[in-house]
Order: sequence, then C-alpha cells, then structure tokens
Amino acid sequence: MSALKAIFFDIDDTLYSTSLFASRARYNSIKAMISLGLNLPEKILLKELEEAIKEFSSNYEHHFDKLLLRIPKRSYEGINPSMLVAAAVIAYHETKSRELLPFSDVPPVLETLSNTDLIRGVITDGLAIKQSEKLIRLKLYHLFTPRAIFISDEIGISKPNIKLYQRVCNELNLPPDEVMYVGDNSINDIDPAKTVGMITVLSRRVRKHHLRQGRLKPDYQIDNFRQLLKIVSRMQ
Ligand SMILES: [Mg+2]
Repeated sequence: MSALKAIFFDIDDTLYSTSLFASRARYNSIKAMISLGLNLPEKILLKELEEAIKEFSSNYEHHFDKLLLRIPKRSYEGINPSMLVAAAVIAYHETKSRELLPFSDVPPVLETLSNTDLIRGVITDGLAIKQSEKLIRLKLYHLFTPRAIFISDEIGISKPNIKLYQRVCNELNLPPDEVMYVGDNSINDIDPAKTVGMITVLSRRVRKHHLRQGRLKPDYQIDNFRQLLKIVSRMQ
C-alpha cells in the first residue's frame, strides 16, 4: 500500500455537533421570543419551528418569520412581529459565538496532523459562506491546508455525487488510494468516497446518520479522533 498523502474531513457532525448546536440555538431563539411577550408554550413553538425548517430547508433565511405566520396571531397581539424575529435572530447568533465549538479531541488531533506532511482538507456540503464561517468560528481553519478546502456550493456538485470526490483528487493531483476521508454519514460520505477509491473512516460519534446503512462498508470506524490518529500513524 502506498503512503497516505492527504486526509479530508466532513464538517457537520464530524468536527462538531451540528445537531446539538442547532437545537440549543433554536431553543435560545424561542426563549428570546417568549421573553418579549410571545404567548405560547416553548414546546409548541419549537415543534413549529422545526417543521418550518424542514419545509423551507435549513439554509432558508426567514424561519422565524415563517414561524410567526404559522401560529395564532393572538399569541403575539400588540407586539410588532419584526421585534420578535429580531430577538430570535440575535439569540441565534449569540449562541453561535458562545457555543459553536469543535469536539474537544478535534483541535489537538488536527494540530498533531498539521505537524506532518499530510495535506489536511475539508469536503463539505452546503452554502459557501456558511461552511466557511463554521471553520473560522470553530477556530480550526488554520490547521487545514488552504488549497484543500472544498465546498459543494463552490464546485457545483453536491454529496453524494462521486464527481465531488473525484474533483478533489484531480485538483490536488492525488491518487484516491492515498487519500483518506472522514465523515459521519454512510450514504453521503462513505459510499461516494469509497467508490472513487479513497480510504474511508466513518465517525460514529453523533448517532444520527451512520445508522442509515450505506451500500459500502467503511474501511475504518471511529468513536473519537484519538482513534483516528492511531489509524493514520500506522499508515505513514
Ligand atoms: Mg456530516
């Protein structure tokens, strides 16, 4: 086997808990609206918000406006709805600056990898600005190789299309069998990366996506990044 040359990571639910962060941010937003006078139970508002996010996609910008359209007007009688939306948006952003944190073992492991010759990159799905913001806020960007950040929005190809993974290898002139990909989603991460010939690592830390059975078996499965480091050091 040839030596490992590059290691790429998924962002969401691989470098940090997207699911946990989103639920905390939504909760704080709802609380902010309630404290401004919105008169409905938290639980009902959260459920309605989650439904709106599902229906309008998570990258839609006006979930809180939609939430207000979906609930009885009398629950915010006499309050300008824009004030409620503003309070929710502020609470969301404040949660971001306080609580968008990587899993605790991610920075030290990336730090260790950054002291090797390995190219360290990202292959992520989503809007360019949002995914970039995550890397900066997580304070991880400086640990990656600058030319190895690939965001589907900027490439015009999304996961799980194998062309996304092929494109990464072509652009960096890397043979796929010398590239490792670490992700939490069997279908979006493991299947396409393995199909193009990459070495695949399924992160099982967030028990959300990996239970959906993919077509292909990952080469490795990990529960934390220390295990990843062991795998990588055996390959160099
Ligand atoms: Mg993911």
